[in-house]
Amino acid sequence: MKNCPVCGSSNFGHINKNPDFSGLDVVECKHCHFFYTQVEDGQNFYDYYKEEYRTERGEKASPQYITKMNFRAEAQKNFIFEFEPDIYGKKILEIGCGCGSLLKIFENYGCDLTGYEPDEKMFQKARSRLPKAALYNDIFRPGNLPDESFDMVLLSHVLEHVEDLHLYLQDFQRILKPGGVLFIEVPQESRAKVKAVLKYRTGLGHLWFFSSKNLKRLLKQYFPKLKIECYGMPLGMYMGQWFNTKMYRLFKLLRVRGGGTLAEQFSKKCKKGIYLRCCCRKEFC
Ligand SMILES: [Zn+2]
Repeated sequence: MKNCPVCGSSNFGHINKNPDFSGLDVVECKHCHFFYTQVEDGQNFYDYYKEEYRTERGEKASPQYITKMNFRAEAQKNFIFEFEPDIYGKKILEIGCGCGSLLKIFENYGCDLTGYEPDEKMFQKARSRLPKAALYNDIFRPGNLPDESFDMVLLSHVLEHVEDLHLYLQDFQRILKPGGVLFIEVPQESRAKVKAVLKYRTGLGHLWFFSSKNLKRLLKQYFPKLKIECYGMPLGMYMGQWFNTKMYRLFKLLRVRGGGTLAEQFSKKCKKGIYLRCCCRKEFC
């Protein structure tokens, strides 16, 4: 059994089976309270992401889906620009680029774009939107790209799926130029949410369940300088969306001074939101 990837502790308790990877246990580290899947050595999920993942989630590159992704990408770009305003003409890699919404934004800044996307239909959509980008209909495999070759590496809802956190983070550090930026967005998971998700929901494919605290602790081992924030609706409101409560509609409709919706302002202030996003910088030697 594996020690906690965040703090290294060998003291953990069993929580549940991972519903998407039958046979793999999810445990909670008794020391830092990170919830993680006991992935076996040498295991990879390439076939799952190439063949099953998008189908199981019911995700298609439809016009509605692309609009939703464009909206998310715009918010991510604003967050990245606050951390790194000097973006023009930079070399950018996105791992799991989906239908290409985030790369599309950087195209407008004259960036040199590379993307990996295992799902063929998503890849085709990205291909048609980004004719000049170097796109690969494949999984990103650590170790395949040259040292210090990118100014920025982007992972939107990808880190929670990779089979070995340290292998990938080491590789991002290696392929980034000194001063380069790693952007990560992942779901934020509370104890209650992890337990509910593991019981009732399949098709998410998550191996790692991050809180703001343990994501920060993990990333700081490779990137001492970072900025992290909660984003999106708080969990209660997110659940409300499913039942379409009046409260949810009110929060969604009200636009407040300073930009965004009331829900967005609330999650920033209270540090409660369903997503975490983070920018880290590779140190100059
Ligand atoms: Zn731990």
